[in-house]
Amino acid sequence: MVLAANPRAPLNDQHFQVVVIGGGINGVAVARQCARAGKHTLLVEQNDFASGVTSRSTRIIHGGLRYLEHGELSLVRESLHERETLLRERSHLVHPMQFLLLLNETSKRSALKVRTGLWLYQRMAGKPRGEDASEMEVKRFERALDAGHRWSFFNYEDAQCEFPERLVAEWLMEAVDAGAVVRNHMEALAVDVAHGRTRGVLLRDQITGRDARVDAGWVINCSGPWADRVCQRSAIRMAKPMLGGVRGSHIVLPRFPGSPSTALYTEAIDGRPIFILPWNDQILAGTTEVADNGDPARTVPSPEEISYLLRSLTQLFPKAKLSAQSVKHAFAGIRPLPYSPDNRPSAVTRRHILHDHADDGASHMISVIGGKLTTAASLARECARKIGLSATEPNTIAIGPGPALDPLLDDAVLEIARIGAISEESARGIMEWHGKRAADIARMALVSAELRAPICPHTSHVVAEVVEAYRKECAITLGDVLLRRVPVALGACWSESCSREAALRIGAVLGWNEQTMGANLEAFETERAAFLRPVGRAAAFEAAAD
Ligand SMILES: Cc1cc2nc3c(=O)[nH]c(=O)nc-3n(C[C@H](O)[C@H](O)[C@H](O)COP(=O)(O)OP(=O)(O)OC[C@H]3O[C@@H](n4cnc5c(N)ncnc54)[C@H](O)[C@@H]3O)c2cc1C
Repeated sequence: MVLAANPRAPLNDQHFQVVVIGGGINGVAVARQCARAGKHTLLVEQNDFASGVTSRSTRIIHGGLRYLEHGELSLVRESLHERETLLRERSHLVHPMQFLLLLNETSKRSALKVRTGLWLYQRMAGKPRGEDASEMEVKRFERALDAGHRWSFFNYEDAQCEFPERLVAEWLMEAVDAGAVVRNHMEALAVDVAHGRTRGVLLRDQITGRDARVDAGWVINCSGPWADRVCQRSAIRMAKPMLGGVRGSHIVLPRFPGSPSTALYTEAIDGRPIFILPWNDQILAGTTEVADNGDPARTVPSPEEISYLLRSLTQLFPKAKLSAQSVKHAFAGIRPLPYSPDNRPSAVTRRHILHDHADDGASHMISVIGGKLTTAASLARECARKIGLSATEPNTIAIGPGPALDPLLDDAVLEIARIGAISEESARGIMEWHGKRAADIARMALVSAELRAPICPHTSHVVAEVVEAYRKECAITLGDVLLRRVPVALGACWSESCSREAALRIGAVLGWNEQTMGANLEAFETERAAFLRPVGRAAAFEAAAD
């Protein structure tokens, strides 16, 4: 691992009013909320911000149409409200997306039930009723779909955040601006509990190996699927686990002939709902539901899950002749769902729970269980209120180029391109990922040709964005940068040669010697391969698919 340019001040013996463990979307949202309420807040993350479940999700910002099926109306209402806020506030990162719901005569759900559900969903969202898809759309899809079925098509609207990693980075910087101290690559070894009350947290800096102890007024355990583990290490005894982990896997493919240009919500081979989405110039298909209480850091998609997703796709698009070789990679994450041994995974509530540990002999500690990308901000407000802070919904101001500003967007792109002497494509990419910071990055790019250079030959994102990530966004490793702050390595054509080229270009600007470059590159490739599992040698599961 390679040290950040900015040395990190020691934390030992400092007192924080709130210590948040876990820097996924929930932890970052909670830290931001507490810091904004004036609390001296520390956020620690054992790996990197957004490297957990947050980056392994389907990346949909949704009201949760399927939660209607389970009667969770209040969750749908809250999610729809939060979706609208994100669309308004983060319009450079969260985009409206048309969904096409596809059923055929074998579907488990009746067309009437679906039509009623969509009507209710759109009504709760304050939108006109969900329409049956237009004839043109139907014709286009019918050509690609399995002709042996009679298909019904329904339209509705939700939203997509292609890069929740960027949303987390923005919220993180807002937490820092509000006074929070944030540390990635800093593991909480245990919560220090004495006489029935949490007193502090023992920490280990993963970069230096140094341990520290901080005092804590409150501890908020936002470690997602690791939540029970944090309690076990802290000798907090509970009658039953808080979590019942459910693994969800996705496959990523290049676009294929007939692949959808809008999002599809349909049924997999066993009738479970799955999504097939255009994402980052590729196709993302998922997900699965497999009980998994193993180490969340080691979770990977099983050959059976990959086969199941591939077969579901193949059944839908037989003419595309997809095979295991068509899959670029697969990834998995564990949904930190509430412990519910008697329920099927799909029936477990998706509503979050804030578990107060006072009854477990550890007052002033809360564990956050569950949640969604969509509702992280409202979860954070609820959590703040639970520890006695006032947390009203902020008056929102548009911070990026919002939908209402669309006609100006091209002008804004031209302005950023002019400031940085960069191409319009680079300027647009910078605006999409960095919102209101785009001008600062463009000014940095103007300084030298090396900073204006694309990170690798296939991307329009430039090296100046990488420098911003190291300097201002707490990136420490090359993985922090290329997988999350400037996530070009999630792109369609990224390969080992791109990694090498990127390391050379970045190293030239940051003054890396050969040893530093080699160490960075090796750590990056190890992390990338552990996350995005290559599926090439898939003969085994292809056999399983037959
Ligand atoms: C397959 C799948 C698909 C999903 N799709 C969607 C979707 O489309 N839309 C949606 O809204 N939601 C979706 N979700 C849900 C959503 O992704 C999660 O609920 C959300 O990301 C959880 O965030 P989190 O911050 O609680 O957890 P995480 O993102 O996992 O963050 C927890 C963090 O805690 C850190 N940590 C753990 N232990 C320690 C320790 N001891 N010290 C310090 N740090 C520690 C971890 O490294 C991790 O980064 C999906 C989830 C899954 C699994």
